[in-house]
Amino acid sequence: MLGREVEYAVVGGGAAGLAIAWQLALRGHVPVVFDAKQPGSGAMTASAGMLSPAYEAEFGELHLLQAMIESRRLYPKWAAELGDIGYEATGTYELALMPEDIPYVKRRMEFERSQGLRVEWMEGRELRERLPILSPRIPGGSYAPDEGHVSPELLRDRLVEAAQRKGVVFLSETPVARIERTGRNFLLHTPRGLYQAEVVIVCVGVPVGDLELPFRVYPVRGQMVAVEMPRPGWLPSAVRYLNKAYGYGYAVPKRTYIILGGTVEEKGWDASVTMGGILDILRRAYYVFPDLYEARVIRIWAGLRPATQTRTPLFHKEPESRLYYINGLYRNGILLLPLIGEGVAQWIVEGNLPPVLVPFQVEEEG
Ligand SMILES: Cc1cc2nc3c(=O)[nH]c(=O)nc-3n(C[C@H](O)[C@H](O)[C@H](O)COP(=O)(O)OP(=O)(O)OC[C@H]3O[C@@H](n4cnc5c(N)ncnc54)[C@H](O)[C@@H]3O)c2cc1C
Repeated sequence: MLGREVEYAVVGGGAAGLAIAWQLALRGHVPVVFDAKQPGSGAMTASAGMLSPAYEAEFGELHLLQAMIESRRLYPKWAAELGDIGYEATGTYELALMPEDIPYVKRRMEFERSQGLRVEWMEGRELRERLPILSPRIPGGSYAPDEGHVSPELLRDRLVEAAQRKGVVFLSETPVARIERTGRNFLLHTPRGLYQAEVVIVCVGVPVGDLELPFRVYPVRGQMVAVEMPRPGWLPSAVRYLNKAYGYGYAVPKRTYIILGGTVEEKGWDASVTMGGILDILRRAYYVFPDLYEARVIRIWAGLRPATQTRTPLFHKEPESRLYYINGLYRNGILLLPLIGEGVAQWIVEGNLPPVLVPFQVEEEG
């Protein structure tokens, strides 16, 4: 027999891989998770951890919106099972930065309501009663009370612990360079040698190293800045803001700091932090929260969001085999994580994807 034998190989221990490995373990299987670096070291921990279906879906993305709503509903249960993942269901605001932005923010609100989401309009004065830290220049915005956010680092830690308690094995610094079919099984080529697996689930996001995928992944860079929270509770909810000239940005509270984001840039595999990117983020945040001028900068970083050609999620199973690909989680992999964990485990164990994920199943090269 060639290589060490494993039953289930999960290639990539990011948002998707960790959720799927844990859910497979809960169903009595013992996956081995191969990660090129460390679990969660890809887009997962570069993210802001927003759980925001209302403000993430574009007008035409009805299937994606339904998947995001369903996944968000699973979060309270996941938080209860996993422990402290920094889950806060404190809603999200979307602000018009200038009066000319109001029609667009209102139009989005109407679309979100038509899809069953709770969203309310608030004039600038009402917004400042709730968020006195907002600039008096903000003319209005909408509020979605059912949204929330998590800490991506805590989520990674809890998922790794929960999976390990169920027997999942993690192989860090183990990039899979090639997946070779050998009869009914697969050979995984890694620097640690060969592994033979009966079932392989590839969820590498933006792939590292030589691994080839049967579809293209387009990395979309996001730069981020973390600043110290001026005082506890200073920013109670996530706030998003947009303007034609200033562009788009957001501020997401964590316990002791605020994440300011985020650029959306097609720069290939380049995960650099740039002066222009940071300038844009800080300029927008300063317009909305002038008091942040004195806030200490804690960290700046960039991550690569994994996007498919259509920027929608992708679930692919190689014909007549047990080789699965999950990719294209793009801007919403943290939000979609519980649905993907439960849905893909069901797909693998029972043979069918939940209906809400079926629109993203592709048979051919994407
Ligand atoms: C700046 C930024 C902000 C974001 N904000 C949010 C947000 O607020 N809310 C939200 O829902 N989503 C957000 N996202 C998106 C979210 O982070 C991604 O959608 C999600 O992490 C993708 O999950 P994944 O498992 O597909 O990939 P990843 O999380 O990137 O995980 C892939 C893993 O595979 C490993 N890997 C790669 N190649 C190999 C290989 N050859 N062999 C073995 N392992 C390999 C990597 O090391 C990595 O650990 C954000 C992303 C970025 C970059």
